[in-house]
Amino acid sequence: MESIARPAIYWRPSDVIGVARRGQSYLNLCYLLAAFPLGVAYFIVLVTGLSAGVGLAITLIGIPILAAMVVVWMGLGGFERQLTMWWLGAQIGPMAPPAAPGATLWRRAMSWLSNRVTWTSLLYLFAKFPFGLFTFVLITTLIALSAGLIAAPVPFVIQLVSDGSLSSGQMTLLAVSPLLTLAGLVLGLATLHICNGLAWAWTRFAQYALGMSDEAIRLAEAQRETQRARQVATRAQARAERAEQSRRELIVNASHELRTPIASIRGHVESLLMATEDAAADAPPPAELHGYLAIVARESERLSALVDDLLALARADAGELKLDVRAVEVDGVVREVYEALAPLARRERQVLLVREVPDGLPAALADRQRLTQVLLNLVRNAITYTPEGGIVSITASLPDPAHLDITVSDTGIGIPKEELDHVFERFYRTDASRARASGGFGLGLSIVRDLVRAMGGMVTAESVEGEGSRFHVVLRVATSEKD
Ligand code: ADP
Repeated sequence: MESIARPAIYWRPSDVIGVARRGQSYLNLCYLLAAFPLGVAYFIVLVTGLSAGVGLAITLIGIPILAAMVVVWMGLGGFERQLTMWWLGAQIGPMAPPAAPGATLWRRAMSWLSNRVTWTSLLYLFAKFPFGLFTFVLITTLIALSAGLIAAPVPFVIQLVSDGSLSSGQMTLLAVSPLLTLAGLVLGLATLHICNGLAWAWTRFAQYALGMSDEAIRLAEAQRETQRARQVATRAQARAERAEQSRRELIVNASHELRTPIASIRGHVESLLMATEDAAADAPPPAELHGYLAIVARESERLSALVDDLLALARADAGELKLDVRAVEVDGVVREVYEALAPLARRERQVLLVREVPDGLPAALADRQRLTQVLLNLVRNAITYTPEGGIVSITASLPDPAHLDITVSDTGIGIPKEELDHVFERFYRTDASRARASGGFGLGLSIVRDLVRAMGGMVTAESVEGEGSRFHVVLRVATSEKD
């Protein structure tokens, strides 16, 4: 923080003659002489601009003029502050406190309006004109007077040299003229002292008008700190509320999803119990019993998958996803996923699974096992939502040198535009998939998103309904320093 010290120029009584040897005295003199033209220029610019802006304020043109004038006014204030610091060697506090991070335009405008320096800088710019005029007249008069006195003997000396003689009156004047020269020198010194005094007074005014006081700076800093603390607290509270909300939703949705398979298992087990109780009478044929058992087996599998998914989500929520992120060769992972699902796709759904990973692709930063899980999820979805005869492909590319894109595309039912944004939400299923009663519980993609994010990447989806979908997993390329 800049502190406001005393100005460098001040009047020292012991410095009566030394004032003429100090460079700062002449800088002060020049500053004061320049104050007049600068003051006139500021006055003309501000009076013209502000009166034009205020006069036209009811029309649309007035507003931009006023806005431009505010910029000019602040610019001139800043310029004067720098000029005074540089020329008079003064220290002046900042004109405004630094803007609070994330402050709205309205808040900034309010802070600008309530800042004392905003208004005192305008006063300063207007005061520069009368002050400049006064100092200009005073200093030029004093300089002219002292120069005239110093040069008093000159006309007599010139006449003496050219005519060879002087009248007795002139001789008397010539005799006293050294006294006049002395008086001129004294006046010259006095002029420099007056300049220093004026410069000192003007500097004090500039320090007040163009810079914030130490207390105001400290107060603004304290307010900013409070504001920041409040923002952090609000964000933390919002995060906590969101987490609580998502926990509540998870419990409600999970219980809802668990109900269907449990009801199905219960129903079929009860049928089996009844069938085996009165085995003698009209027991169902073994094929039917086997059908019941197959349903029970499938539903328990679904239940176990749901519990696995819920555990994965709970871990992600609790920040307990322990990943081993390192350089991973994407080609190997893609091959593994392809080999695991290609036969299943062909046999059970008559879907062709293809893969294409170009040679020489750099390694990606990922957790190998989780990346495999992500791709298995995406490819399984693609196969599930692609009708017979369709094609599902896994490809990899390098969209830019720092990122690697693994894309899973299909020629399936696609996802309607309005639902595309929601497919990564927990328990979200599109209408089409609900109607088909296929797939899982709408948790797969949200797990995919959590995992990819945890690996420092991102996952996006694009789709055309009825034509197919495309999921991109974008990961960072592993550079030699990173791994
Ligand atoms: P689910 O386990 O139900 O498949 P996901 O989270 O994996 O849950 O997917 C959410 C929903 O997104 C699915 O129910 C489905 O409606 C839609 N979806 C996901 N992948 C595809 C795809 N490749 N083609 C069409 N719809 C898809």
